[in-house]
Amino acid sequence: MQAAVFEGEGRLVVRDVEPPELGAPDDVLLAVRAAGICGTDVHILAVPPGHPATPGVIMGHEYAADVAAIGARVDHVAPGDRVVVDPSIWCGSCPYCQMGLTNLCDRMTGIGIFRHGGFAPLSVVPARAVYRISANVPSEIAALAEPLADVLNGVRKLAVVPGESALVLGAGPIGLLFTLVLRAAGVSPLLVAEVAGFRAAQARACGADLIINPRQEDLAAVVRGETRLGADIVVDAVGSLLEDGLRCVRKGGRVLLFGMHEHARPTVKQYDVTKYELQILGTYIARGTFPQAVRLLEAGRLDFGRLVTHRVPLRDIHHGIDLLRRGEAVKVAVFPEA
Ligand SMILES: [Zn+2]
Ligand SMILES: [Zn+2]
Repeated sequence: MQAAVFEGEGRLVVRDVEPPELGAPDDVLLAVRAAGICGTDVHILAVPPGHPATPGVIMGHEYAADVAAIGARVDHVAPGDRVVVDPSIWCGSCPYCQMGLTNLCDRMTGIGIFRHGGFAPLSVVPARAVYRISANVPSEIAALAEPLADVLNGVRKLAVVPGESALVLGAGPIGLLFTLVLRAAGVSPLLVAEVAGFRAAQARACGADLIINPRQEDLAAVVRGETRLGADIVVDAVGSLLEDGLRCVRKGGRVLLFGMHEHARPTVKQYDVTKYELQILGTYIARGTFPQAVRLLEAGRLDFGRLVTHRVPLRDIHHGIDLLRRGEAVKVAVFPEA
């Protein structure tokens, strides 16, 4: 079969590989229908890499598939079921897994990063990583389940009250998912900071009340003008904007840090955090939020389809990655060929 294999140092090669076979009794064999390209994939392929990955691995960690075969011990899905994959495989026995903090597992491994993923027609994963989803959800939209589950884990920490105001920093796929979900949660006003025109237009279509270009306007001043006190909630969907978050949040407000940038070293005035009782909340991937993500996608009330701006066959995956690098796409869906 043709698969997109990470070959180290910025190299992703579409080539022939042996199709996987069902191994352990608790594995499932999946026929991949659609796989999203993630910002993490772009980081992995950067030189020098912005995210580690194992050379030789088939990439792709956001995917929807049909179950082709199941191991003897699998009972929650059956051949023919449409599923989505949680790519984060936690061990279940380290101190954090035993506390129920599975997303903080000491021995976490990632499908499509450290073991074979979904940029291929077939994929074998542990059965506990798959969640059934209605086949009525188009596969490239179902493939949004993973980033959406991550976003819902963050939204849960915010404990949003309808009528609160929010500022989302960055309108890439994650910022746009926050925009859709916070709008649905009754946030008002909902402000988005974004410098790229293409993404700003997307944010407006996803329900933002106002898009602020921080290169052209004084972000904190505009936010204060719109919210009077500062935003109740600020979400950093970029990973290096804690300073902006602290400047734009009201006293007693929450700053949610979602994006990740390994080399960001913000200068923080700790005095303000204490004096104004600011809450800084980190949130990392998903924990127990796949069921809600699946239900949101199945309900069809939010326009998740708008996020999938491009569709490419697997052989054109490099074109999709280039679009993302240039900021000309939100989510690129890849369709494997048998
Ligand atoms: Zn991802
Ligand atoms: Zn663990």
